[in-house]
Amino acid sequence: MKRLFLSTLFLAIVASFCLVSQAPAKTTFVTIGTGGITGVYYPTGGAIAKVVNKKRDQYGIRCTVESTGGSVFNVNAVMAGDLEFGVVQSDRQYQAVNGTAGSEWDGKPQKDLRAVFSIHPETCTLVAAVDAGVKTMADLKGKRVNIGNPGSGHRKNAIDALTAMGINWEKDIHAEGIKAAEAPGLLQDERIDAFFYTVGHPNGNFKEATAGKRKVLFVPITGSGIDALVGKWPYYAKAIVPVTGNYPGAKNDSDIESFGVKATFVTSAKVPDNVVYAVAKEVFDNFESFKKLHPAYKVLTKDNMLQGLSAPIHPGAMKYYKEAGLK
Ligand code: GLU
Repeated sequence: MKRLFLSTLFLAIVASFCLVSQAPAKTTFVTIGTGGITGVYYPTGGAIAKVVNKKRDQYGIRCTVESTGGSVFNVNAVMAGDLEFGVVQSDRQYQAVNGTAGSEWDGKPQKDLRAVFSIHPETCTLVAAVDAGVKTMADLKGKRVNIGNPGSGHRKNAIDALTAMGINWEKDIHAEGIKAAEAPGLLQDERIDAFFYTVGHPNGNFKEATAGKRKVLFVPITGSGIDALVGKWPYYAKAIVPVTGNYPGAKNDSDIESFGVKATFVTSAKVPDNVVYAVAKEVFDNFESFKKLHPAYKVLTKDNMLQGLSAPIHPGAMKYYKEAGLK
């Protein structure tokens, strides 16, 4: 009897040791930097965190999401080690890794920036109050226009677009530097006439902007200046603002033309391989259910999620892409 008891006890100890040794020793906390809560980055961080946190027991990784000022803030916070991951416009990723002249990283290439994957398309979008009389970009002259806060990705897209159309953003318009999440309220309160936001569609921000009492219109961002801008930079491409069906309150009767970029997911070379491996694997292994988490993901394929990246792919992510036959 005593022998049976002892051997059962022994087996129980061995079994529990095996269980314990399978589970990760400690929890690794990782934070994803996103954007304003009415944009698409914030729910994107949530979607990624959701699929990774499901395997919390297996990986010992706990993902949380932070609302931030946007792409530029996210690159800098990931580089400073304040965030492990960030959602960043593809143009901003390119500028950061190359230290592109005229960008926030002019002459200061961010050597440790690493790409994980790319996500939904983002369109440089301009919306204006009908009573402000802005039907084309040229009509912006003399108007109060929010071009975005300095930490945002879209501020530079607005400046690039204005400059390309021969509008001096410092002299010809009254430029505001407010966060995108606040812009719909300011537009409805008649404190601004128009605002720019580079973002995936549909989103809560433009739903809010177009659903109020003050009637608004999406304004095309087109012309030979824009053609030249898109031709100059590898990260810009012609794009559409899908107004129809998404924003019934807007005064447009069709979709409108503009240019755009892609949202991408980045990290630092200093983030451990196993963490980045787990994130890439869970997003791609759960691709079909991930895709359903936001309507802006409907165009995603596993292949196009590996396009539009300028920084080197993080080795942890690369390990998964090789295993999955994607690279
Ligand atoms: N593209 C914007 C930025 O980089 C954010 C868009 C969003 O939050 O969906 O600041």
